[in-house]
Amino acid sequence: MIPHKLLYFLFFFFFQSHILQAQKNAFLFNGKKIAPGSKKSFLLPVITGNDSTFIPVTVFHGSKKGPVLGITAGVHGLEYAPIMAAQALAKELEPTQMSGTVILVQVANVTGFLNRSFRVNPLDNKNLNRVFPGQPNGTSTEKIAWTISNQIIARCNYFLDVHDGDANGDLRPYSGYYNYFDKPKVSEKARQMALALGFDFIVQFGNEPSLTEASIYCSREATKRNIPAADIECGGKGQVEAKNVLQIQKAIISLMRHLHMLEGHPNAVQNPIFIAKRTTVESEHTGIFYSDLTGGDYVKKGMKLGYTTDFFGNKIADVTCPIDGVILYKTFNPPIQKGESLFNIGHIH
Ligand SMILES: [Zn+2]
Repeated sequence: MIPHKLLYFLFFFFFQSHILQAQKNAFLFNGKKIAPGSKKSFLLPVITGNDSTFIPVTVFHGSKKGPVLGITAGVHGLEYAPIMAAQALAKELEPTQMSGTVILVQVANVTGFLNRSFRVNPLDNKNLNRVFPGQPNGTSTEKIAWTISNQIIARCNYFLDVHDGDANGDLRPYSGYYNYFDKPKVSEKARQMALALGFDFIVQFGNEPSLTEASIYCSREATKRNIPAADIECGGKGQVEAKNVLQIQKAIISLMRHLHMLEGHPNAVQNPIFIAKRTTVESEHTGIFYSDLTGGDYVKKGMKLGYTTDFFGNKIADVTCPIDGVILYKTFNPPIQKGESLFNIGHIH
């Protein structure tokens, strides 16, 4: 028989822990209150002297306390797998079942998306993932970056930026994170995030003593603010492939489990391959590019990766592999200009 005092203690303990976990406070975002266990969508305006656009964002505020996770899709408007995964995730997330808060940017570069613009925002022809932290009074892309940096990243405890191979990339899916030696705690938390995403290839960006230059990249802006951040690269060829959309969706759910925002265990991979160094093979010629290789193929130093021809079909040159490694992505379609990247190869030891 359990003594009354112990019953009382147990009741009190569970009651207390439940109360402690419950989220009492609303989440304030863009001047609006989001009550615990609810969600709200916003179109954040991005207006310059020349043009205007907006950023669609949904905030999911859980019933229970927990961290704030920011997620961006569509930093590149032709990267459809991340954008469609964000659409699916927004339907799947149920704030009453969540701990903490998710700030989901459905499409960071709406004008690029609607105009099917390769890499850039057509309003100023700038690449959003090259202008972070942005500028408050800059051009459209710089202002989008500024809004994401200060209204979203600044609010987060963890941050995830989701990309794919874009319109021209045949990509081998991977997760990535920044590793800076003077930020051991942030780097380690970011590494744990990358593991929790469940990809069997993990690319380490940075691998340098410190981050002294401008952030430039979206998730590096989070890193610069000491917010652990990871990237997903999954999908490409300008297509919506269901398996890629699903893999991104599952990866984010797994990450949320790792961060104790959802119940259940993360699907981390047991022995992922860490890639600390990458080599880009650039085209030395302008013309038409041929290659039978695909993202994920293992390659050897000295082997022929493909070749380029002129516009009359005459072969100009072979493309030779500079290292032993694995193709993370390659340009899969024919047009190529001198200086553009043909392959990105991960070094494997
Ligand atoms: Zn991208």
